[in-house]
Amino acid sequence: MSRSALLQAAVASARLGLNHGATGNLSMRHDAGMLITPTAVPYERLAEGDLVLMALDGAVASGARRPSSEWRLHAGVYQRRADVNAIVHAHPRFATTLACLREDLPAVHYMIALAGGDRIRCSGYAPFGSAELSAAAVEALGDRQACLLANHGLVTVGGDLQLALRIALEVETVAEYWWRARAIGQPVLLTPAEIADARARFEDYS
Ligand SMILES: [Zn+2]
Repeated sequence: MSRSALLQAAVASARLGLNHGATGNLSMRHDAGMLITPTAVPYERLAEGDLVLMALDGAVASGARRPSSEWRLHAGVYQRRADVNAIVHAHPRFATTLACLREDLPAVHYMIALAGGDRIRCSGYAPFGSAELSAAAVEALGDRQACLLANHGLVTVGGDLQLALRIALEVETVAEYWWRARAIGQPVLLTPAEIADARARFEDYS
C-alpha cells in the first residue's frame, strides 16, 4: 500500500513537470523510518521494488537499490517535524530559477497560503546530499510546508503524499506567475493580513 502510493506520487511528479529524468526524490514516513525513492532510477522505469525502506539514521532496512542521495534532507525533516508524513523534493523550472537568484517567493498570489505563510523562504546554499543541506532546509521550512533550496530546487511537506505533491505543484505555479509578472511589470503583493485570510478560508474549505 505504502509502496504503491509512493510510486504513484513519484511518477506523478514527473508527469506534472515537477521532475525530469532522475532528479528530485520523494518519501513517506513509515513506522520509525521512511520509504524513499532510490538514487539514479528514471521515473519512467521506477518499480515498487526499487523503493528503499530505511531508518532515519541512514541504515537501510530493505531494498536492492541505494536510497536517494538526499535521504539526509528527508530524515532531517521527519526528525524535526512530527506533523510531516510525506516529502517531495523537486527541481521544477520556475521555483528553481528563483532559488538560483537566492530570493524568497513572495505573496504574489493567494495560493501561496497553501504552503503555510506569506512567503516561501529560500535556504542558504549547501552541497546536494549533505547534512548541511538538510539543516538548511529544516531552518528555511520552519513550521511551513515549502521552502526553496539555494541554487538547487524546492522542498514541500505534508500530512500525506497527495498534499505534499499538490503544494509542490501550486508553489511551482506561483513561482511562474511571479516570473511572468516581473517580466512585464511591477507585481503587487498581497499583505500578511490578506494571506492570513486566505489561510483561514482554506481551512474552512477543507
Ligand atoms: Zn535535488
